[in-house]
Amino acid sequence: MIERDLVIVGAGPAGMAAAISAYDSGVRDILLLERDQYLGGILNQCIHTGFGLSYFKKNLTGPEYAHRFIEKVQAIDNIEVRLKSFAVKLTKEKELTFIKPGELKEIKAKALIMATGARERTREMIHIPGDRPSGIFSAGLAQKLINIEGLLPGEEVVIVGSGDIGLIMARRFILEGAKVKAVIEIQKQSRGLARNVVQCLEDFKIPFYLSHKVARIYGKKRVEKVDVVEVDEDLKAIQGSDFSLECDTILISAGLISENELLESAGIKAGNISIPGLFVCGNAYKIYDLADSVSRDALLAGKQAAEYLKGLG
Ligand SMILES: Cc1cc2nc3c(=O)[nH]c(=O)nc-3n(C[C@H](O)[C@H](O)[C@H](O)COP(=O)(O)OP(=O)(O)OC[C@H]3O[C@@H](n4cnc5c(N)ncnc54)[C@H](O)[C@@H]3O)c2cc1C
Repeated sequence: MIERDLVIVGAGPAGMAAAISAYDSGVRDILLLERDQYLGGILNQCIHTGFGLSYFKKNLTGPEYAHRFIEKVQAIDNIEVRLKSFAVKLTKEKELTFIKPGELKEIKAKALIMATGARERTREMIHIPGDRPSGIFSAGLAQKLINIEGLLPGEEVVIVGSGDIGLIMARRFILEGAKVKAVIEIQKQSRGLARNVVQCLEDFKIPFYLSHKVARIYGKKRVEKVDVVEVDEDLKAIQGSDFSLECDTILISAGLISENELLESAGIKAGNISIPGLFVCGNAYKIYDLADSVSRDALLAGKQAAEYLKGLG
C-alpha cells in the first residue's frame, strides 16, 4: 500500500482551501481526491451571485469563487489532483480505498482531511405521506439539472421548505419560464438568508406560506397536486385550514446534513474525532451558510494537518 503525507477527500471550497494552506504550511506531498470530473464542489452549480462578499470583498458567482481557488491549486505542483476518484472505504488507520473508472486503489495517509460536503434531506426524512409519483426532486438536484445539464425538471412547482437552495431555485424556475405555485415552510420563519427571501421570493411575488406544511402528495405517474395545511405552535395540523395546489413538480429544500458516511462506516464520529492526524472541515464538519466561512475554517484544517505532520518528524 502506497503511503502519502496528506490525503484530502473532496475538492469543494473546503478541500481546496485545506490543500493550499497545507502547502503554505510546508507540506510537499498532497493528494486531493474528487469524485466529480471538476474541482469546485457544489459551487459549480451555484451560478447566482452572493459568494465572496467577506472573503474577497467581491460579489461573485459560485464558479467565479471556485475559480480563484482552482487556479491556486493547479499552480502548485505538490498538490496532485485526481478527479473521478471516489473514496469508498476508510479505516481507523487512515487507509483509504478509492475507485477511478477501471481502477481500485488503496493508499495510507499519514494525515487525512475529510472535506466531503453535505447532502440534502429527503422527502422520507421529513415524512410527507402520499403517493410516490415522479416529479419530486431535492432542490440541489433540480439546480444541477437546470444549471449544468440544461434541463427543466417541471413547469408548475411547489417548494417544500425555505432553505437557501429552495429560495434560490424558486427564482431560477421563474427565470426559466416555469410557475412557482408556492413555497411552504413549517416553521414561523424562513430557514434561509433574509436577502434570499427578498431577492428570490418577494421580488417575484411568489406566495410564501409560513407555519404551513405539505400534508399529502397526489399523483399516479407524475405529481398532480399537494394538500397544504396550516400548523399550530406544536407543528400540528389545524383542522379546516387545508387547501390544495395543483403542480407537476415538488422540490424538497429542508436543509443539509453533513456527508460523513465514510467516517461512520469506519466507526468514527465526525463531531468527536480522536484519531491522530484525521481532520474534518467544510460542510462535512458542520453546515455553513456561506462558502466564505467554509474557506476560512478549512485553511485552519490544512494548517493543523501540516503541524501534525511536522510533529511526526
Ligand atoms: C444551492 C446552494 C446555494 C448556495 N448559495 C450560497 C451563496 O449564495 N453564498 C455563499 O457564500 N454560500 C452559498 N452556499 C453554500 C456553499 O456553497 C457551501 O457552504 C460550500 O460549497 C461547502 O463547501 P464544501 O467544500 O464543504 O462542500 P462541497 O462544495 O459540497 O464539496 C464537497 C466535495 O466533496 C466531493 N466528495 C464527496 N464525497 C466524496 C467521496 N467519497 N470521494 C471523493 N469526493 C467526494 C463532492 O463531489 C464535492 O465536490 C450555497 C450552497 C448551495 C448548495
